[in-house]
Amino acid sequence: MSNESLANLLKEERRFPPPADLATHANVTAAAYEQAAADRLGFWAEQARRLSWATPPTQTLDWSNAPFAKWFADGRLNVAYNCVDRHVENGLGDRVAIHFEGEPGDTRTITYAELQREVSKTANALTELGVRAGDRVAIYLPMVPEAVIAMLACARLGAPHSVVFGGFSADALATRIEDADAQVVITADGGYRRGKPSALKPAVDEAIERVDRVRHVLVVRRTGQEVAWNDSRDVWWHDIVERQSDQHTPEAFDAEHPLFILYTSGTTGKPKGILHTTGGYLTQVSYTHHAVFDLKPETDVFWCTADVGWVTGHSYIAYGPLSNGATQVLYEGTPDTPHQGRWWEIVQKYGVTILYTAPTAIRACMKWGDDIPAKFDLSSLRVLGSVGEPINPEAWMWYRKHIGADATPIVDTWWQTETGAMMLSPLPGVTETKPGSAQMPLPGIAATVVDDDANEVPDGAGGYLVLTEPWPSMLRTIWGDDQRYLDTYWSRFEGKYFAGDGAKKDDDGDIWLLGRVDDVMLVSGHNISTTEVESALVSHPKVAEAAVVGATDPQTTQAICAFVILRGGADESEGLVEELRAHVAKHLGPIAKPKRILPVAELPKTRSGKIMRRLLRDIAENRDLGDVTTLTDSSVMDLIQAKLPSAA
Ligand code: ATP
Ligand code: MG
Repeated sequence: MSNESLANLLKEERRFPPPADLATHANVTAAAYEQAAADRLGFWAEQARRLSWATPPTQTLDWSNAPFAKWFADGRLNVAYNCVDRHVENGLGDRVAIHFEGEPGDTRTITYAELQREVSKTANALTELGVRAGDRVAIYLPMVPEAVIAMLACARLGAPHSVVFGGFSADALATRIEDADAQVVITADGGYRRGKPSALKPAVDEAIERVDRVRHVLVVRRTGQEVAWNDSRDVWWHDIVERQSDQHTPEAFDAEHPLFILYTSGTTGKPKGILHTTGGYLTQVSYTHHAVFDLKPETDVFWCTADVGWVTGHSYIAYGPLSNGATQVLYEGTPDTPHQGRWWEIVQKYGVTILYTAPTAIRACMKWGDDIPAKFDLSSLRVLGSVGEPINPEAWMWYRKHIGADATPIVDTWWQTETGAMMLSPLPGVTETKPGSAQMPLPGIAATVVDDDANEVPDGAGGYLVLTEPWPSMLRTIWGDDQRYLDTYWSRFEGKYFAGDGAKKDDDGDIWLLGRVDDVMLVSGHNISTTEVESALVSHPKVAEAAVVGATDPQTTQAICAFVILRGGADESEGLVEELRAHVAKHLGPIAKPKRILPVAELPKTRSGKIMRRLLRDIAENRDLGDVTTLTDSSVMDLIQAKLPSAA
């Protein structure tokens, strides 16, 4: 964005106050904002006391070597002890930690006492395999309980894990193993996906041929499929873990001891290896999970549908919920196997009260139809969350109406792999929500929107989202590349963290995310948000999903080019394209009217479900495609390319 700030086009007037009952009993009230504003560091020091420290910290933030932060630096703790053992010591051993639901319908119920035994045995097994504090362990597993157990066992030993999403190829796995220099890999024979077993071990075997430093592969038997075996290297989980003692004494580590490395989803380019540490990270994931979901651990059943291979799975499956002693659902498979109501069946079966999912999933459910969730009893739900992309106002409304009985608050949580935990979000018992807006920084978080010259924009204007103060769960660096850390996040605006997302402030000062800065379009001197044009398209009853890019244009610098997926039944006549162009012009103004609209069957997405606009821009400008390693399905690009000449 060089010429001017983002144009503020979309006006969304709908408002939803918190339900009275939720507001009355909310974990966190408006007082938290005041308290944190009066003494931000004191506020975080108090939140750190949610945890059990072997040595309580006396320091809060050390910013003397900015932007390399240290939080609670003289404190010591063990993350696995905090997520498991202390709940058992507090008499909660019989509480269910995990309701596991396999895709084929097999189930497992794991209490906190069982989790403690499983994590201890696994920590003992890893010790036998030579894993010591500081060693990196790669985890490449399906969504089975062993994924969470393995993460906790690593944390217990102070061995940073690097979880690699089970859908990634051998290639992507090899680069991640190599970058982190992991010498032990934890995997499975396979997992269930779309109704059939899908192999994992062959990708590990292939990856290891290229990185010769891996000493051991620990293999969970999940599907029972045939696997190639190397006796000197491969060990079955059931052989080594089962024979271990279920006692293990956790050692306390420094608050700044590394907890994990995780690669970003690769929406905007080559993934970055983000490093998170122990005390500050656990403090903020625990606090935000408690505050933003209003978690009542005695009665709530929490379900986050993310994969543990993404940061959402790290912070809101493994560490946040378990540090709070929550009961949660862990589901292995896809939302439409064996039928499109599978998620709602799970909500009904376990009485899920808090659901956390992504806009891409909500739009898929919209496409499948309202009648599907209507067949299930979803009345247990009391808080709904969204994360991963800006949520289109129409998708937000659908989520509230068809999943939340037109009553349940929605928390639209903005954060990143880099931030470690939620940063902007409404609070369900406090905030009057607005469809499509993450609204405001959480207590203790400082964020704003600035223009090109780093000046805060006035209400009603757009620019760049920045974080103006360090926060406990912030990334500490990019693994092995401090310079890239400085360049990527801290060089654009002096002393401010540059998130890479465009945003605007509305007339009340609330923040709306407008898409990646890399994706913002420049049309006749106006910076236009991809998100706003997409949301306008999705608000048309015939459009299920839309992706918008700016393609080079001789007259207008860039021209808006839209790719749309139509809802079932809509036919892609010339008339419809005109109707959609007029619809956008009516909602946002003539400047935002797409020059071209191309109906397509699918959109290119990352494995975490985010639209990869840069690839569509490559197509629209007839370039070779950039990095596609994190793309779900490359045949999607061939299909789109095949359709393009008709639109040119
Ligand atoms: P890469 O950095 O490799 O391009 P990525 O940014 O997709 O990948 P993540 O860390 O998984 O990797 O995603 C964080 C990004 O997701 C944010 O920067 C933002 O663009 C988007 N995002 C997440 N939650 C929201 C939200 N509630 N509203 C708007 N955007 C969101
Ligand atoms: Mg990113």
